Amino acid sequence: MRAYCEQCHYPINTCVCKHIKNISVPLNVIIIQHPKEATHAKNTARLVTMCIPSACVVLSDNADAMHTLAQSSCKQTTALIYPSENSTALEDLPRTQKQHYRTLILIDGSWKQAFGIVKRSPWLQTLPSYHFSNATPSQYAIRHTSLPHALSTLEAAAHSISCICQRDMSALYDLQTAMQEHWQGPISHRRKT
Ligand SMILES: [Zn+2]
Repeated sequence: MRAYCEQCHYPINTCVCKHIKNISVPLNVIIIQHPKEATHAKNTARLVTMCIPSACVVLSDNADAMHTLAQSSCKQTTALIYPSENSTALEDLPRTQKQHYRTLILIDGSWKQAFGIVKRSPWLQTLPSYHFSNATPSQYAIRHTSLPHALSTLEAAAHSISCICQRDMSALYDLQTAMQEHWQGPISHRRKT
């Protein structure tokens, strides 16, 4: 039987615990996760909650949790990261407006899954939504995506938090790098395609 680390829940030989550094973030970070994502061992949403203890993951098919979230979210203080024809670039947001935000909501799933989640949750459509105009290209190479510039959920969270509250998110990126190297070997050792 494979042994798992009790803290990070990865197999012992891929344990990332020594790379976990707590980051204090003055925002409630909520990740709405499609249930299919929850079963992926290499899902990065869980890494976010390891570094940011106040961050939480809500499964999109958990009707009670989604209802509670809908009731508690306020469109004046909640920013939704979801690119759409109505979204604006987070990087362009004036500082005075950024200061109003207390809650950040991200969606963890493919673009199609995210679209379905927003469609089924009209309250999400009332929140101000943002896309990125200037994010660092993704370093996350484990999971194949057909979208060349798509970020992992961890990268999207890190970029959003650093845009809204200018925090240093390197601990979060480092944790993703550590996890990735466990599964795939260091980037420098990878065969070029
Ligand atoms: Zn561990």
